[in-house]
Amino acid sequence: MRKPIPVVEAVRLVMENAQAIGTEMIPLEDTYGRILAEPIIAKHDVPPFNRSPYDGFAVRAEDTAGASGDNRVPFKVIGEIGAGHVADREIGKGEAYRIMTGAPIPINADAVVMLEQTVETPEAFTLRKPFTSGENISLQGEDAKDGEKLIEEGTLIHPGTIALLATFGYAQVKVAKLPVVGILSTGTELLRVDEELTPGKIRNSNGPMIAAQLARMGIGHKSYGMLIDDLDACTETVKRALDESDVLITTGGVSVGDYDYLPAIYERLGAKVLFNKVGMRPGSVTTVAVLGEKLLFGLSGNPSACFTGFELFTRPAILKKMGTKKPYMPRMKAILGEDFTKPNPFTRFVRAVWETSEEGIIVVPAGFNKSGAVSSIARGNCIMVLPSGSRGFTTGMEVDILLLGAEQGVEDWTL
Ligand code: AMP
Ligand code: MG
Repeated sequence: MRKPIPVVEAVRLVMENAQAIGTEMIPLEDTYGRILAEPIIAKHDVPPFNRSPYDGFAVRAEDTAGASGDNRVPFKVIGEIGAGHVADREIGKGEAYRIMTGAPIPINADAVVMLEQTVETPEAFTLRKPFTSGENISLQGEDAKDGEKLIEEGTLIHPGTIALLATFGYAQVKVAKLPVVGILSTGTELLRVDEELTPGKIRNSNGPMIAAQLARMGIGHKSYGMLIDDLDACTETVKRALDESDVLITTGGVSVGDYDYLPAIYERLGAKVLFNKVGMRPGSVTTVAVLGEKLLFGLSGNPSACFTGFELFTRPAILKKMGTKKPYMPRMKAILGEDFTKPNPFTRFVRAVWETSEEGIIVVPAGFNKSGAVSSIARGNCIMVLPSGSRGFTTGMEVDILLLGAEQGVEDWTL
């Protein structure tokens, strides 16, 4: 007898059992998409010296006093400082260095005059306005101060993070280890992608789909192929796969049909089943078990249910194992663009399409929406959440949508 538990409770149970798997040092160029296992602390000021934000002239502000349109003040140019070079001497009264963007300000200069603000001759220029001390200077440490904690550990490394790591010379970065994830598709009816259809058979779409759902998270996988519904053969493979993986995702065989062997396999392996029925559509038969620190996701064979089960349960659990503090799909409010009148005994997760419009964000179901549907997963760009209750949902109502494939997740999961 299976008793459904609420989705929120199911997610909580899964997350409670998802343990981080340690850290490793990797080269900076391999860190995109990984999770920081150490905070980024400024190792020096940024910028590390006062520098010019423009191409222009470095001057002493005091020498510009009294400059105006009628009283242009002349300066003598005593040299040039390109980016990467330093001035070879101090400037004296009425002197200036020609200076390029990014070049350090000479010791006793305290303002930069932009090229556009001058009238030039080859060795001199004149000015028509006074400058204040510090004008047009990028000050040492204005961006970050030596020792300042800039980014917390547990944060996703994106291109901006990589820029910061590079700034401080992090050639090697401490990141959370990636879990090894296995995928196994079960079902005697399954054919490989390159096989012709024969009576009673269908091609395995879940295996490649899950591989891509993982790839979208920056995670590889080990494929254990497809297995016919045979208890002994499946048990053998699940056991081997589990030995080699931190997370094993199986699809199919978790319903209550004659050939749905996954529950029996969990029992044989001594895995603890966290739940085997969830109050949701699709994917109510989603079953999650744990063996030690290993997680087993028994996703439904129905493609829409499989997809949804992965996004709701597997993805945040893997992200947590990867070390992130923000494992959940971001959520937005959207306006329902068409009626959805099917009654909802359970929370419904509808493959849907969101679009911006003048009225705001509009969402509509992505077409044929049974749990066995595959076309709507292909069309969808989000999951629309319709809470349980007998009333239908009508055009113009506000609903929640969950965003797929977002680089940055959120910390909390509620419905
Ligand atoms: P099951 O979860 O094994 O009861 O399967 C539910 C439905 O999903 C059945 O119609 C299966 O034929 C179908 N199915 C199972 N596995 C896959 C798969 N890997 N790819 C596509 N459809 C599948
Ligand atoms: Mg099956």
